[in-house]
Amino acid sequence: MLKSCFLPCAVLITCFVLATESRGAVSVVDRPDTLRRNDFYVSNREPLEPNPLLKLPIRAIEPRGWLRKQLELEAAGFTGHLTEISRFLRKEGNAWLEPKKGKHGWEEVPYWLKGYANLAFVLDDEALLRETKVWIEAAIRSRQADGWFGPESNRTRLKGNPDLWPNMIMLFCLQDYYDYTGDRRVIDLLTKYFKHLTTIPDEKFLPGYWDRIRAGDQLYSILWLYNRTGEVWLLDLAHKTHHNAARWDEDVINWHNVNIAQAFGEPATYWMLSKEPSHRQAACRNWQKVRDLYGQVPGGMFGADENARPGRNDPRQAIETCGIVEEMLSDETLVWITGDLRWADRCEDVVFNSLPAALTADLKALRYLTAPNMVLSDRQSKSPGLENGGPMLHMNPHGHRCCQHNWGHGWPYYAQHLWFATPDNALELWVSARRAEPRRIVPGVQTRLAVQRYAVHPRGHADRTPR
Ligand SMILES: [Zn+2]
Repeated sequence: MLKSCFLPCAVLITCFVLATESRGAVSVVDRPDTLRRNDFYVSNREPLEPNPLLKLPIRAIEPRGWLRKQLELEAAGFTGHLTEISRFLRKEGNAWLEPKKGKHGWEEVPYWLKGYANLAFVLDDEALLRETKVWIEAAIRSRQADGWFGPESNRTRLKGNPDLWPNMIMLFCLQDYYDYTGDRRVIDLLTKYFKHLTTIPDEKFLPGYWDRIRAGDQLYSILWLYNRTGEVWLLDLAHKTHHNAARWDEDVINWHNVNIAQAFGEPATYWMLSKEPSHRQAACRNWQKVRDLYGQVPGGMFGADENARPGRNDPRQAIETCGIVEEMLSDETLVWITGDLRWADRCEDVVFNSLPAALTADLKALRYLTAPNMVLSDRQSKSPGLENGGPMLHMNPHGHRCCQHNWGHGWPYYAQHLWFATPDNALELWVSARRAEPRRIVPGVQTRLAVQRYAVHPRGHADRTPR
């Protein structure tokens, strides 16, 4: 799985009417033009910046070959069985199932469900889907008259103020469930919840550490709903979220590894609304600043073995598994927001190098921290060489709480971002093979090579009728 000398040449191939296996012309472009909007799939609505690529519905991509094998290993590994070993996922008295009195109402359940549910969706696996529905139905049932949903304890968790962070993760689970099922109750729930957020005064809005720093996730979800309903008050809420969030548009304002990987791209998400070029550029600037200071680490990540620390920047420094998958998702999102294929390269560097190194090959155990130059992977503490003390390098499915629950979205989201739609009703394959030089690309032949390489193929595009 590990790629050596990995420096892919990403090429965007526009294959017109690919799903119908047309022998029509193929053109190669830097990025798709945005003069029109796709007739088949959800695009950014006005006044949002038109997006050059569109994420396809989950059912539109079927993973095959080695990628399917990875997903099946994940389902058979500890992620697929985490309800059996994690106390946070015990159903009895769980606050995500019993919102008014249960325990464990913070991030662990939605962290796990985000990966587990998407695994169920991309594999169309009946057993995984049954378990997914238990938690999704409970989240939908938990909606209160004022629009709040999820554990009650989160309403007042931050000195009497709401902690919106756990719900930010569950919003992803719900959106993906809607994408897979078309269940309109999700749209209703999100609409009422976001309406509730409009009633929270600024001084009580995103008052905590995690919710303020990671508010870009909430911003993403608000724009996701806006694109599906067109209710303009959502744009006011999007502005409010950005203005109360940590200022990633100004600089790298926090050095926690997961915060960086998850939130550095927030300004580019906001750029879709603000249309201010500096917001789009801020995501690139943040990424580059972190690599300039701490990126002397192969594998696409950076040295931050909880936080990045001055002077600790060589390949002995590690990265957290949560940081790895959050970087992947940020890069995948930035591909379709910007159409800039550097984000595809950056994502793949992580996917094929850092991610496999953080888990056993059978996906039955993981480490909290992984470093490129790591000669021991044992139970001993490596502090202060690594910032974190304790058995951070030990492969263990029972520990490493946040990564244990959160890492699971890595492969399923990767599988969902290998093909995109374009504004002009084409499908595009994200190709990063050294042999895929543009001049050699002819209809059919090179496309099949690329499909085998990624082991996915698009389906359903030609069957859909325009909205
Ligand atoms: Zn973690």
